[in-house]
Amino acid sequence: MKFVVRGDAVARRGTLSAFRRLPDVKVETPGCMLFTRCGSVPHLSLDVLNRIENLPQIATSSMSTLSDYQDVVRECKRGLPEFASLDNMVVFCASHDVSAEIIKFNCSTKKTMVVRNRGGNKQYSPADFVKVQEAFKCDMVQCLGDSEGNESTTSGSTRMNKAYNRTVDFLEKTTNFLQGSEIEGTPLLASLVGGMLLEPRTRCAKASVTMTTVSGFVIEGFHNYGVRAECFWNEKEPLGVLRDTISCLPEDKVRVMLGALHPVAILTLSEEGVDLFDTSYTYQVTERGGALSFPLSLQSPKAKADVMFEIDLKNSKYADQFIPLLEGCTCHTCSNFTRGYIHHLLNTKELLAGVLLSIHNIHHYLRFFEQLRRCLDEDSSAAYKQLLEEYCGPTPEYDTGRVSPSPSLSTG
Ligand SMILES: [Zn+2]
Repeated sequence: MKFVVRGDAVARRGTLSAFRRLPDVKVETPGCMLFTRCGSVPHLSLDVLNRIENLPQIATSSMSTLSDYQDVVRECKRGLPEFASLDNMVVFCASHDVSAEIIKFNCSTKKTMVVRNRGGNKQYSPADFVKVQEAFKCDMVQCLGDSEGNESTTSGSTRMNKAYNRTVDFLEKTTNFLQGSEIEGTPLLASLVGGMLLEPRTRCAKASVTMTTVSGFVIEGFHNYGVRAECFWNEKEPLGVLRDTISCLPEDKVRVMLGALHPVAILTLSEEGVDLFDTSYTYQVTERGGALSFPLSLQSPKAKADVMFEIDLKNSKYADQFIPLLEGCTCHTCSNFTRGYIHHLLNTKELLAGVLLSIHNIHHYLRFFEQLRRCLDEDSSAAYKQLLEEYCGPTPEYDTGRVSPSPSLSTG
């Protein structure tokens, strides 16, 4: 894998390429990986997924949703990308399912890292971790770290120093086990932990940078997992710690931050130098019956009252609106279905509601990333962010009913 940052760009823009399995794939950054749970995009079959225009050529999966099934994937012999029919995409194996609430994460030990999956907590040594990855054969892998989950904002220095030491130790041992393994040479991304504390953060980053086998970094712990990922950046933007962490990282290695991040947070993080995100935000919007409708250009809409950041399709005011979710949207849902019909599907709890909303929300979010890259090229991201903030308004009042059961993981 090769990551090249464009030297002529106003802001950080780059390209990921030269993947061993898919040498022709090129991923523009800042970019967005397709979020999958258990190897599939929630609500969408492969046929339906392919109706979405300009899909990214890179997807995420996670140890936490798939490690229970490693024996089946191993038996398949062709790795997770082919097992899950994602073989035309670069597949990145992250550590955790970022759509799931993680109440407390402090269960790793000196020698093992914890992964929570449907079967409960499982401890993985570096040798166990490499064995799972040999079965998965993904194109890019996140090394397990002592991530803080939703306790990241409140953890003290003793906890965070312990997390730093365990994470760096696990990374060193994993790189040793990778040598001579079936997946030697697979790009390994280091987990950067340390909560909101500058010292463990920068020590973790500096120690990971010294390992030449590390191909990039996953910045953990700057937001909560699950639905609360969106709220974190609204309440507190720990930009100082993030900037100091990023300042320790080399320019020529990719930086990833996963989670359901609000588009305004994505704009901020891109300006700060984060390269890759994922579409789990659209999953959260779909689950609450929402449809993204924020502007995708710098041109202000004629009347602000006509435009919302997101519309709540469960609201009865949409029952008799026989227009697309968003006027001008070219997605399959907006081309064929109305707000009134999708409101009806949500009311009657039909699974098709999640399918149609997912198509629109992923389409809209991917167009947002195209607009983001344009803004970075034209040095207009500040103006676009200001426009989006005008339309953010207060978080909509949603009822608690979700399209499908909320994934959650606790210490059990
Ligand atoms: Zn649409």
